[in-house]
Amino acid sequence: MARRTRSVRTQVLAGFATLILAFGGVAVWSLQRQQRTVRSLRLANEVYLPLTAALGEDRGNQSQLATVLDRLVDEQNRVGSQTFIDVTRRSRRGRLAGARAVVQRRLRLALDRDDQRLLEETLRRLDVIDRLWAEDERLFDGLLRTLTSADLARAQREERELIGRELQSKDALTSLIRSLQARVKALSDGAERQQAETLRLTVIATAVACLLGVLTTLRARRALDPLARLRDRAQAVGRGELGTVPVPAAEDEIGELAQEFERMVGAMGARDVALREANEKRLQAERLAAVGRMAAHVTHEVRNPLSSMALNAEMLGDELDAMGEPGSESRRLVRSIQREIDRLTRLTEEYLRVARLPTPRLQREDLGALVDETLLFVAAEMGAAGVELTKVLEEATPPVRADESQLRQALLNLLRNAREAMELAGVASPRVVVRVMALAKDGVEGAAVCVSDSGPGLSAEAEAHLFELFFTTKSRGSGLGLSLSREIAVAHGGSLHAERAPASDGGGARFVLWLPAALDEGATEGAIDAEGR
Ligand code: ADP
Repeated sequence: MARRTRSVRTQVLAGFATLILAFGGVAVWSLQRQQRTVRSLRLANEVYLPLTAALGEDRGNQSQLATVLDRLVDEQNRVGSQTFIDVTRRSRRGRLAGARAVVQRRLRLALDRDDQRLLEETLRRLDVIDRLWAEDERLFDGLLRTLTSADLARAQREERELIGRELQSKDALTSLIRSLQARVKALSDGAERQQAETLRLTVIATAVACLLGVLTTLRARRALDPLARLRDRAQAVGRGELGTVPVPAAEDEIGELAQEFERMVGAMGARDVALREANEKRLQAERLAAVGRMAAHVTHEVRNPLSSMALNAEMLGDELDAMGEPGSESRRLVRSIQREIDRLTRLTEEYLRVARLPTPRLQREDLGALVDETLLFVAAEMGAAGVELTKVLEEATPPVRADESQLRQALLNLLRNAREAMELAGVASPRVVVRVMALAKDGVEGAAVCVSDSGPGLSAEAEAHLFELFFTTKSRGSGLGLSLSREIAVAHGGSLHAERAPASDGGGARFVLWLPAALDEGATEGAIDAEGR
C-alpha cells in the first residue's frame, strides 16, 4: 500500500510561504490604510480649505458691502462708496465661478460618498448665491439711478431691499463655510483615528506574523530533527553496532530514509552472518586439509611399525599358546597389546579416510538396497551388543546419485554412534530403527535415511558442536565420524542433520541423511563424479 508522504521540503516551503504571505498582507494592508488617510488630507488641503478661504473672503466682503450700502443714501460724497460697490460687484461673481470650477473638477475624480454628496451640495448652493448676485446687479443699477435723480425716499427703500438680499447671500455663504469646515474637521479627526487604528492593528498583525514565524521555525526544526538521530545511527553502524533500533515513524522523506537505512543495516547483518558461516566452513575445510596432511604423515610413519608390531604380538601370542600358557598373565598382557594395536590401526585408518576423502564417484543407486547391505554388515556387531535393529522402508524411494562406499561409511558412522550412545548410557533394551523414505527438500525430490535410537538423545553441548571436527564426548572418541559423514552428504549434494527421535522410534537421537534424486538424464549407466564429470 502506498504510504502518504508529507515532504519535508513542502513543509518548510509551506511554512515560509505562510510567513511571506502574512508579512506581505500586513504591509499591503497598512499601505492601503495610509493611502486612504493621505487621500483624505489631500482633499482637505486642495479643495475644502482653499474653498473655505475664498468663501470666507466673500463673506467678509458681503458684510462690508452691507455696511457701505447702509450709509450710501445719507452720504454727502458717495464716490468712494460707489467705487467699492462697483469693484466688489465685478469681482465676486468671478471668484464664485473659480470656486465652482474647483468643485466641478474635483467631482469628476473618484471620491467617498460623503465627499461626493458634500461637493454636489456645495455646487448647488454656489449656484443659488450666484443667481442671487446676478439678480442684485439690476437692483444696484436701479439704486444708483435713483440716487442721481435725488429721490431719497425711493433710494432708501431700494437700499434696504438690497441690504436684506446681501445679508441673505452672506448667511448662505456662512452656512456653506460651516458645512465645509465641519467636513474638514471630520476628515482630520478621521485621519487621526485611522492613524491610531492602523498603528494598533499593525502591531497586532506584526505580532501574529512573528508568532507564525516562530511556529514555522519550530515545525521546520521538528521535521529536520530525525536527521541528527540518523547521523548518530550511521556513526554507530560505522562502529559495527548493527543491532536493530526502532525506526522513526515520520511519514516523510527522512522517515523513509531511516527505514531504508535500517533495511540496509539488516541486510548487512545477514551478510555478516553468512560471511561468518562461510568463514567457519572454510576454517573447517582448512582444518580438514591439515588433518589430511598430518594423517598422511602419521600413517606413513606409524602404519608399517604398527603392522609389524601386530604381527610380532600375534606370533608372541601363538608361541605362548604353544607353550601351554593360554591363561597366563603374559598371555593376557599380549592380548591387551593386540587390542591397543588394533585401536591405533583403526584410528590411523579413520584419519586416513578423512584425509583422503576423494571426490565421490556418483552412480544411480537404490538407497533401500544400499541400506540393506550396510545393515547386514553391522548385524553381528549390533547383535553382540544386544541391539534390536529394525529397518522400515516407508515407500518406494527414487534412485539417488551416490558413491556406494562413501555412503556406506557415513551410515556405518551413524549406526556405530547410536550403538555407542546406548551402551555408554546403559540403556536396558537398546533399539535402532532405520527408516528409508522419499523426501522432497526445498522443492527438490530426493530420498532420506533416518537412523533413530533409544539412547539418551543429544546433550545441549553435543547439539551445539555435533558436526565440528574433533568434537567428542567419548573418552576414546576421535570426533571425526559426524564431521566426515556430513562432508560425504554435502559432497553428494545432500545434507545431514540431527533431531530428537519420535517415541515410536526409541525417543533418543535421530540423524537424517538426505540425498537428491538422480535425474532422468543421469540414468545412463557408468560412473560420474560429484561435478557431473
Ligand atoms: P566420536 O564418535 O568419535 O565421538 P562423532 O563425530 O561421531 O565422534 O560424534 C561426536 C559426538 O556426537 C559424540 O561424541 C557424541 O557425544 C555425540 N553423538 C553422536 N551420535 C550420537 C547419538 N546417537 N546419541 C547421542 N550422542 C551422539
